[in-house]
Amino acid sequence: MRALRLTAWGETPAPTEVERPVPHGTEVLVRVEAAGLCRSDLHVIDAAPGTLPYRLPFTLGHEVAGRVAALGPGADGVGLGERVVVHGPWGCGSCARCAAGHDNYCDRRDTLAWHGAGLGRDGGMADYLLVASARHLVPIGDLPADQAAPLSDAGLTSYHAVAGLRPALGEDTTAVVIGVGGLGHLAVQILRATTASRVLAVDVREDALALADRSGADFGTLLRPDTARALRARSGDVGADAVLDFVGTARTLELAAGVLRPGGALALVGSGGGSLTVAKPGVLPPGFRLSLPFWGARQELAEVVALARSGALHVEAERFPLSAAPEAIDRLRRGAARGRTVLVPD
Ligand code: NAD
Ligand code: ZN
Ligand code: ZN
Repeated sequence: MRALRLTAWGETPAPTEVERPVPHGTEVLVRVEAAGLCRSDLHVIDAAPGTLPYRLPFTLGHEVAGRVAALGPGADGVGLGERVVVHGPWGCGSCARCAAGHDNYCDRRDTLAWHGAGLGRDGGMADYLLVASARHLVPIGDLPADQAAPLSDAGLTSYHAVAGLRPALGEDTTAVVIGVGGLGHLAVQILRATTASRVLAVDVREDALALADRSGADFGTLLRPDTARALRARSGDVGADAVLDFVGTARTLELAAGVLRPGGALALVGSGGGSLTVAKPGVLPPGFRLSLPFWGARQELAEVVALARSGALHVEAERFPLSAAPEAIDRLRRGAARGRTVLVPD
């Protein structure tokens, strides 16, 4: 089978031929129908040697949907031929967090050489993906694969981030989404579907603001020196109750701190390398709350899938054949991708 293997840090991989895995024990083999390309894949490819605990080589792809193709003799909880999306954060599998489906916050995370499918373990940018157990699978019914795959990270991470902010987002509140790409355009839709807040969007690209508009944002603006003021004006002059930062550079963190009202909450999702100084007194509003959400729980993935199947979520998916992965990666790198890029085995 073909697989997009990361073999050297800093080098964009091209598909190569590897052996198709055979499921043993509780393992499940999934025939991949689609695998989403995330900006995190770029962060992984570009990582300096030694900065991530992953051992090379491994197959990229942490956002995967497909059909169950083979079952190990001890596998249960899923049927042959069933269509599924993969819950990608894979922890130790035995701590209390993993047992509860919260592999994203595995208690043994620091001792593992991986963070999940395609992140130190072989992932789904391949014809097939081997999954350790059916507990990592969520049924998708007849949801198209290019819609389902992005739910497992772009959808799930956004959903989990919004879940932490939901108590603050009642009537007449404001949420700001910074960065309307793969994650951000689904965050806008999830905010609309599951909270009463108005949704304001910020990006550096006009086409991303058009996507924010199609996703249901009430207002969108380019990042400019006076953006904090423009956002405040749109929030009834009080400031935002919550900011979701899907970029995470110094500039976006400064904007987030500048636009939050007292008691406001920031969910920092993007790995842009910026930092924020916490000090008292300082520039952060009183009552400021910060979260650093990572991915999401298995149960939340089932909720995201249900939301999508109800018609409340639409992934703006740009499909590329797996054989064109290097071009797709280059496009995302240049800022030319819109919504989520999805690789389809060809
Ligand atoms: P993406 O490239 O699809 O989207 C990023 C968007 O941000 C683009 O629309 C881009 O134009 C916009 N942008 C760039 N610089 C900006 C700026 N200064 N101000 C406003 N907008 C700006 O990326 P993605 O796949 O949606 O991922 C977003 C970030 O989230 C990445 O850093 C990724 O690594 C991270 N991520 C984190 C988690 C997690 O669990 N915490 C999960 C997935 C992705
Ligand atoms: Zn990701
Ligand atoms: Zn664990």
